[in-house]
Amino acid sequence: MLAYQHAYHAGNIADVHKHLTLFALSRQMTAKTSSITFVDTHAGRGLYPLDATETQRGGEYRDGVLPLWQARDRLQDDDLLDDWLAALDLLNPRTKLECYPGSPWWFAQMMREGDRLELYELHPREYAHLDDLSVAAGGLPVAARRHFADGLEAVVKHLPVPTPRLCVLIDPSYEVKRDYLTVAETLGKIGAKARHAVVAIWYPLLPEERHLELLEASRATGLRKLLRSELRYRDPGKGRGMYGSGMLLFNPPWRLDDELRQSFDHLAAFYGGGASHHLDWWVEE
Ligand code: SAM
Repeated sequence: MLAYQHAYHAGNIADVHKHLTLFALSRQMTAKTSSITFVDTHAGRGLYPLDATETQRGGEYRDGVLPLWQARDRLQDDDLLDDWLAALDLLNPRTKLECYPGSPWWFAQMMREGDRLELYELHPREYAHLDDLSVAAGGLPVAARRHFADGLEAVVKHLPVPTPRLCVLIDPSYEVKRDYLTVAETLGKIGAKARHAVVAIWYPLLPEERHLELLEASRATGLRKLLRSELRYRDPGKGRGMYGSGMLLFNPPWRLDDELRQSFDHLAAFYGGGASHHLDWWVEE
């Protein structure tokens, strides 16, 4: 039985890192005309009202999206950050941050006619919450479909997709430790069946460093063009929890690396306290 509920962590620094990356990635992809299938293998609830009991208990958004949103008029010029924060206004009045959106919402914002969105979620309550997303924010686009299914199995099973392009987000909670390897294996299968696929994988940076298993196994797939972005916001030597957030991108669009480097350098400076961003090609083209 899955226990993880993202509501406890919604809007934390890792979410900012992940969703800003997703925003930049899907925006560049939708700048070209041909249609895209977006796949969210681990969808979560879709929307996170910040006054929810779970979110208030964790309160992680107070160190993540909230200070950034409050400082939005004072931030240095950064088009990506500015546009990402402006998108939050679609859900929030200008004066108060009330709701933080999850990955299904960020994908839905980007969809154009002809694009598709497949959402997978295995936790019954989280899956039920995805309904809220269809009611709020103008509803999910018609071409978005929810599935109560294992997203890692399903994404491979449904290849090839009916659109010319494919964009996949893999964002597990890593409750099951084997997930680190299963994710890399899934990347290998997607890459083998759809060489053109663009895949974004989120992983936590924890003192146990299990993300290295994921990175090494991803390299062992033989796939080329793997970009790594890691945002560290705490000293790994201090405390037991997550010290940072990682994204591994397969086939990122041209010059996304430059865009991410600039915005995440700004973001690390904004958060301060020794926060840093590291970006490199884990496997070159
Ligand atoms: N992607 C979401 C976002 O950014 O807003 C957050 C997802 S959360 C980190 C991980 C979710 O994956 C949880 O809601 C969990 O119930 C779900 N989950 C775990 N294993 C799964 C699987 N094999 N297939 C689909 N969903 C799964």
